[in-house]
Amino acid sequence: MDWVERVGNLRQWAQNGARAPHKPLLMLYALGWFQRLPQRPMRYSEIEHDLSELLQDYGPTHRTSPSYPFHHLVSDGVWEVRTDSGDGSPGTGVRALRESGARGQLAAGLRGALSDDPTLLGQLAQLLLDRHFPPSAHPDIAAAVGLDLETAEGIRVASGPVPGRRRAAELRGRVLIAYEYRCAFCGFDGSIGRVPVGLEAAHVQWWAFRGPDELANCLCLCSLHHKLFDRGVLGLDSGRRITVSQEFTGHSRAAREQVLGLSGQAVIGPQRGSAQVAPAYITWHTAQVFRGEPRVPEGV
Ligand SMILES: [Zn+2]
Repeated sequence: MDWVERVGNLRQWAQNGARAPHKPLLMLYALGWFQRLPQRPMRYSEIEHDLSELLQDYGPTHRTSPSYPFHHLVSDGVWEVRTDSGDGSPGTGVRALRESGARGQLAAGLRGALSDDPTLLGQLAQLLLDRHFPPSAHPDIAAAVGLDLETAEGIRVASGPVPGRRRAAELRGRVLIAYEYRCAFCGFDGSIGRVPVGLEAAHVQWWAFRGPDELANCLCLCSLHHKLFDRGVLGLDSGRRITVSQEFTGHSRAAREQVLGLSGQAVIGPQRGSAQVAPAYITWHTAQVFRGEPRVPEGV
């Protein structure tokens, strides 16, 4: 059984670039659980709250019940569900899952493979993170699912194997030049000696979702604004002005200046002759990543 292939090809409901990270999030949660309690199944009622928060924090903006991945992941052959009355999931009904004592666990064959190969857990976790989430979110998601990436063997160092690192470095170089080494949102332009620091190339449509490595799909952002952009706090409107989610709150001067005050501001750059972010990628980001509705800019 090739578990890497099976986990890499979890059946998705959504297509055409829409995000459906429900099964991957449950799978990551199950891997984190396995790291701590390899033999113990998880009761639906016990993990329902955690799973619901994970879906809310890292899933798309429309709500999905945690019962859906809990039931449907069984069909991918990596997860099994039992109830007090025997094998099999009672379906996606929340009440049935709670009252039947439903409990889920990684499939027995997969548990065996994880025990036999100490690098497999890290490989599967990395694969799920790479396929479904932008790199800026990987450490947060790992922490949220209780996965210890520090000790998991098989996790790649930094941003992937050599071809991936080369690709990322080459793209970053092009994006930083296009934006003249400045954050497109706040203008931050720090360097240490001659080396720019805290500046990153951000994909608008995530690479994991077939967003291309092109200037038309990238922004140069400082580390803070990159993270907030990938988490849907910040976005762009069709006129390439910055949007701020109504769901974001912050009362400090820093939050006001570095986030709330950006609402309605025009993107800084790129320099003349370089491609601006194309509308199709903004549309994807708005639909799949941006959280809720944008705030009304001050003074409007
Ligand atoms: Zn910035």
